[in-house]
Amino acid sequence: MQQKNYIIDELNPQQRQAVLENSCNLLILAGAGSGKTKTLTHKIAFILNEGLAKPYQILALTFTNKAAGEMKERIGKLIGSQASDMWIGTFHSIALKILRKEGFRPTIYDSKDQENLIKEILKKLNIDSKKYTPRAFCSSISSLKLKLTKPEDLKVNSPFEKYLKSVYRLYEESLAKANAVDFDNIILRVIELLEENEDVRKKYSNKFKYIFIDEYQDTNYPQYLFVRLLYNSSNIVCAVGDEDQSIYGFRGAQIDNILKFDREYENCKIIKLEKNYRSAQEILNIANTLISKNNLRKEKRLYSDKIGGRISIVNLATETEEAKFVAEQIQKLKLEGENLYDIAVLYRTNFQSRTIEEALIRYSIPYNIIGSKRFLERKEIKDVIAYLKLLVNPNDDIAFLRAIGSHPRGIGAKFLEVISKAKDSLNTSMFEASKWLIEKKKVTPRQEKALKQFLSVFDINTAKSVDKIIDEIIQISGLKNHLEQTDDFDRIANIMELKNTGNLNNLESFLEDLSLLDYSNELEEQKESVRLMTIHASKGLEFNTVFIVGVEEGLFPNENLKRDELDIEEERRLFYVAITRAKTNLFISHASSRRRGIDYQRSKPSRFLLEIKEKIKHKPLKRGDKIRHSIYGEGVVLSKDGQLLTVNFSENGIKKILEKDRNLSVV
Ligand code: ATP
Ligand code: MG
Repeated sequence: MQQKNYIIDELNPQQRQAVLENSCNLLILAGAGSGKTKTLTHKIAFILNEGLAKPYQILALTFTNKAAGEMKERIGKLIGSQASDMWIGTFHSIALKILRKEGFRPTIYDSKDQENLIKEILKKLNIDSKKYTPRAFCSSISSLKLKLTKPEDLKVNSPFEKYLKSVYRLYEESLAKANAVDFDNIILRVIELLEENEDVRKKYSNKFKYIFIDEYQDTNYPQYLFVRLLYNSSNIVCAVGDEDQSIYGFRGAQIDNILKFDREYENCKIIKLEKNYRSAQEILNIANTLISKNNLRKEKRLYSDKIGGRISIVNLATETEEAKFVAEQIQKLKLEGENLYDIAVLYRTNFQSRTIEEALIRYSIPYNIIGSKRFLERKEIKDVIAYLKLLVNPNDDIAFLRAIGSHPRGIGAKFLEVISKAKDSLNTSMFEASKWLIEKKKVTPRQEKALKQFLSVFDINTAKSVDKIIDEIIQISGLKNHLEQTDDFDRIANIMELKNTGNLNNLESFLEDLSLLDYSNELEEQKESVRLMTIHASKGLEFNTVFIVGVEEGLFPNENLKRDELDIEEERRLFYVAITRAKTNLFISHASSRRRGIDYQRSKPSRFLLEIKEKIKHKPLKRGDKIRHSIYGEGVVLSKDGQLLTVNFSENGIKKILEKDRNLSVV
């Protein structure tokens, strides 16, 4: 009895209603931080505790494995060990589980396997893979699969589509022959299984008495169909979501799934939660203001009992200053007693982590990157650094091996063995051994060509500035070409970002600067660390303090996206997700200029900032308030006369400035 109360006692009336209503389909439609995930978790615990279903009759679909793990753990805490038999997992893991139970044990092809297979097919079909890249076929096939378009259904309107049709058909045949599935196929195979085999469909729809889906706004068409097939009118589907947080449209998520839920599942109740338990009202105000600018949404407003949120929108001169600002604020917060793991730094694109990492390392603040690697540990960065090291010391064999393997270039393991043997017998370096092999004609013409191309990197003149050297390395080595061919623009962006590190005038001091930053490993041991991640990776999470950096036009909204991917409303939802991760402190920053190699490029504040600024601008300043000015630095307001402030700047002394000065922000 006590336990049962515990499950529903701490919920508000709407949440409780959602937990107690177990005889019809349910859609919980509510904004960020309103307790959707919590309600779902408590609802499952309640159902089990009341004996409305056995654990194995519960299916819960989450967006990430981490979210599934957390949900299991929380249900376990509420009701104990019986939680372990539930089917809680991502769409992919649950689909795979069903396939395995039904006797299919497919090999799973990751994106690399997929690409290799496509390459083979292109060769077979005599298609020029320079003109039509394997990556282009992969992504087109993936989006066709999201629409459940089969090769035979594909309408051909262009030469590419003509090729696509035959590549797609052969691709599917090869997968089937190899008993393999790619990532998209996993769900399609289950859909096929359920559609073609009524017995299996019945078995699972009878088994799962309750089906739950978190983050429903980010489901795509096959995922929708999967759930629809498991539904048999006598089991119950309960979805929770927030259309304002739909941020995976670029991967085929359909906001429409959530908007049409009540038509799809008859006998459906919609419950709205409006109270937010996460963020202070001040933070919600700007989140509400921002998202109200979107057209494709249902009107809702969030409110909170918490007040006292601190919001700072800060303009800094450069991205280095911005990163320094973040590090300094974190240090201050730590002194005030904030736990580092309650602080997150969020950014739009992965490469942006670099400057932040550098500042955190300088300030000895431990950090963890979620969902990606630390900048200096990313493959392409290590590869380019290896080339740079070779230019300084051609006999560095470790760098040699790393660089020669940076991308496929016709030098395989066997050939490397040959070089290595020559090296041993001559008692010299890989570099010298390579030259010797060519000189003594101990290589085949093909090997000679490949090796010579690699060795031509060593001819680069190192007296140039380092950004130019990097450009030449990726050009001459063929790395750039390879990344472009595989559409790997994230990696190219990371390499471009490397050009903004260290002293560019001198290669050796550049490498020295990098090595100073590379002691980060020792910090990793510490549990208490700040978390860095892209906004996409922050979905569903919460932190007491959130920094959103680089909120500038071009970066956010991100105009590097392909035209059909750039959807301003989706970018705005992404900013909404970022803001609503914060409980108490929210720092939003943007730099006036960003380094691009040797030059600086001016950047404008994001349009989203202008949209929310009107909301915070009217905060009147008073004596004692701390401010930051993008020219004069930090200061304290000494007095105010109408619009005119007298401020004592710690580095620039006393100055008079207007309250509405565009360079001014509140700290
Ligand atoms: P998001 O849209 O970001 O996924 P959400 O709607 O899933 O958010 P939760 O993560 O479930 O929200 O809850 C947000 C926070 O509010 C959590 O810390 C949760 O414990 C707390 N919370 C939710 N409901 C209540 C409640 N009734 N009483 C106290 N705290 C609550
Ligand atoms: Mg949630």
